Amino acid sequence: MADPKGFMTTPRQEWARRPVAERVQDWDEVYVPGALLPIISKQADRCMDCGIPFCHDACPLGNLIPEWNDLVSREDWRAAGDRLHATNNFPEFTGRLCPAPCEAGCVLAINQPAVTIKNVECAIADRSWQEGFVPPRPPDRLSGRTVAVIGSGPTGLAAAQQLTRAGHTVAVYEKDDRLGGLMRYGIPEFKMEKRHLERRLKQMRAEGTKFRTSTAVGRDVGAAELRTRYDALVVATGATAWRELGVPGRELAGIHQAMEYLPLANRVCEGDLETSPMSAAGRHVVIVGGGDTGADCLGTAVREGAASVTQLDIYAQPDAERDEDIDPWPTYPKVYRLSAAHEEARDLETAPEAHADARLFAASTLHFVGDADGQVRSLHLVEVDALRRPVAGSGRTLPADFVLLALGFSGPDREDGLIDQLGLGLEPRGTITRDGGFATNVPGVFAAGDAARGQSLIVWAIAEGRAVAAAVDRYLTGSSRLPAPIGPYDRPMVV
Ligand SMILES: Cc1cc2nc3c(=O)[nH]c(=O)nc-3n(C[C@H](O)[C@H](O)[C@H](O)COP(=O)(O)OP(=O)(O)OC[C@H]3O[C@@H](n4cnc5c(N)ncnc54)[C@H](O)[C@@H]3O)c2cc1C
Ligand code: SF4
Repeated sequence: MADPKGFMTTPRQEWARRPVAERVQDWDEVYVPGALLPIISKQADRCMDCGIPFCHDACPLGNLIPEWNDLVSREDWRAAGDRLHATNNFPEFTGRLCPAPCEAGCVLAINQPAVTIKNVECAIADRSWQEGFVPPRPPDRLSGRTVAVIGSGPTGLAAAQQLTRAGHTVAVYEKDDRLGGLMRYGIPEFKMEKRHLERRLKQMRAEGTKFRTSTAVGRDVGAAELRTRYDALVVATGATAWRELGVPGRELAGIHQAMEYLPLANRVCEGDLETSPMSAAGRHVVIVGGGDTGADCLGTAVREGAASVTQLDIYAQPDAERDEDIDPWPTYPKVYRLSAAHEEARDLETAPEAHADARLFAASTLHFVGDADGQVRSLHLVEVDALRRPVAGSGRTLPADFVLLALGFSGPDREDGLIDQLGLGLEPRGTITRDGGFATNVPGVFAAGDAARGQSLIVWAIAEGRAVAAAVDRYLTGSSRLPAPIGPYDRPMVV
């Protein structure tokens, strides 16, 4: 640390977002371009180099945070990039998308605002690309072993990059027409511009990873056939089987799943469509579900020009500050967080019925009401207590002619037949069963990411990809020097 008193003299300053009125007019990232680098060395200097850095453990990748904070505070960007890439294949993704459990575990956060670790990570990643510190790293020699990775989300991409660099010949199979999994067609452009994804894919191609898009394993190519063609298979197909809302009126027109809606908006940004056939423009939108997917729907509907947008969250509004008795440091606390989309909704007052931002908390949907044409027109809800019991007299009706269901995902989608063709064992909740070494019940077949862990985060997906690569490398060669940051049963640091 260049300044040992940095944490006492420099206040926390985050990467500034563009003004709301400006940013909702476009799909670009919400941040002010170029505003991060000028502030970041001073911010990195706030790191106390505390000796026992809990941020290491809080980050599933085990990112070497104090080390790169020190290097950034000294403006040694090349070394900082090397230390960051030693533990994270795609820091420009996590630097934009991660909810940063590391910051909740930062020792400074015991009694002060945490170091802006996620921003530092993003700055190192972006600067590394700018300076040409991230060249392709093809292997010196090939092992003669072949691996098929099924699914090109962050798990599949991380696994493929690690295995390719270890000398194996890797082909990634992807059923969509473009690569990236939920980072491509789920997460909106305003959270992460897809150019970051394209740049990494170019690097991976140059390293030798092969990609087969528009190929659903199980449907377009038999899973058993792949097993005979490759020495090992990694199933990284995600957990995209969405949860339903079984209430009266669900069958009405105008009620859609979030993941029916978001991919179309992403396709507009990709230039495939001029406008989305499922646009929220001019509609009274209600989003059922209080999580990140719902927030992504919110930001998208605002940009499409919705007449109003409300988001329903079944949980009570959390406190602004960590409750040490319930969520003690260094766990990731349940606190009120204002995402960029919520900030937009608040400033634009998109929700006539809600306070503060577009969210109505402790709200449970009872039924939908439609018109004579079968089009949804309103949503009836009730306030619930902590045990989800309705509060007497709290029923109310919201105008709703466009409803988005963002209720989470139950496990991998089985429609393509991959799981059944391979005969993979499943957990009671629908995820793929694996042992302590990421191996499924079928020899040579490994499972990783959301498909096996359940719905999670990009940082966990990358950690899964790195760990399964180490397991596959060991299976193919008898030993491995690849890092395995997590085991299959590791879980986030929460109470
Ligand atoms: C809308 C939304 C927003 C999110 N926002 C964030 C965020 O901001 N930050 C964050 O950390 N996490 C976020 N997440 C969660 C995060 O995106 C996932 O945890 C992560 O992408 C999981 O990675 P994965 O590689 O395991 O699966 P996925 O990203 O789901 O990728 C799986 C891939 O496998 C492909 N596939 C499936 N079956 C087959 C088959 N039979 N043959 C070939 N290919 C197949 C799919 O098409 C897909 O491309 C979000 C999730 C959603 C839905
Ligand atoms: S990947 Fe996430 S948890 Fe890890 S250092 Fe980056 S922001 Fe923090």
